[in-house]
Amino acid sequence: MALSAAEAALNPVASEAALEAVAAEARACTVCAAALPLGPRPVFRVSATARLLIVGQAPGTRVHESGVPFDDASGDRLRSWLGMDRPAFYDVRRIAIVPMGLCYPGRLPRGGDAPPRRECAPLWQERLVALMPDIRLTLLVGSYAQAHNLGPGAMTERVRAFRSYLPERFPLPHPSWRTVGWERRNPWFAAEALPALREVVATALAE
Ligand code: SF4
Repeated sequence: MALSAAEAALNPVASEAALEAVAAEARACTVCAAALPLGPRPVFRVSATARLLIVGQAPGTRVHESGVPFDDASGDRLRSWLGMDRPAFYDVRRIAIVPMGLCYPGRLPRGGDAPPRRECAPLWQERLVALMPDIRLTLLVGSYAQAHNLGPGAMTERVRAFRSYLPERFPLPHPSWRTVGWERRNPWFAAEALPALREVVATALAE
């Protein structure tokens, strides 16, 4: 039987089991298999005790191969923004990672990764997040995560207005190589947003 978020908060053992049941369903998902050039391989990390949730875009080819989210240059950039090493970042007891699309979506005809599959987040994101009752802060990484959770809006303006989404959410750019130029054009990101990000993440993860 499905567990509500309130029930999950009251019963951690049942919550862990319910979360693992939904996670197993998601790992076996083949809903959009026909559209995935490398086939289904959902990549995400969840636990009933996680305090921080990172909602990214979708796996690239390297992450598809390793099965480890953000196991690439984008992940290195995100970890540098967070001031976090790999052991801390991959401590699933404290940090959950659920991208908008759980599987590698392929390439666009003109280059670049295709957007996350639209059918994925409505199927899995809410169900997984509802069973993680200790989430205190959600990082909305990239425009797809922001549009799904906040509605339409421009990424740069959202990130610049990060304070208005606190304490529950923090919008961030997608940390791809393209962000290097974006960071140069928007120096307030390193000067103001990143110190604030590190502070609210430390607060969310504090015992
Ligand atoms: S992208 Fe999402 S909906 Fe499509 S097969 Fe993977 S898990 Fe299922």
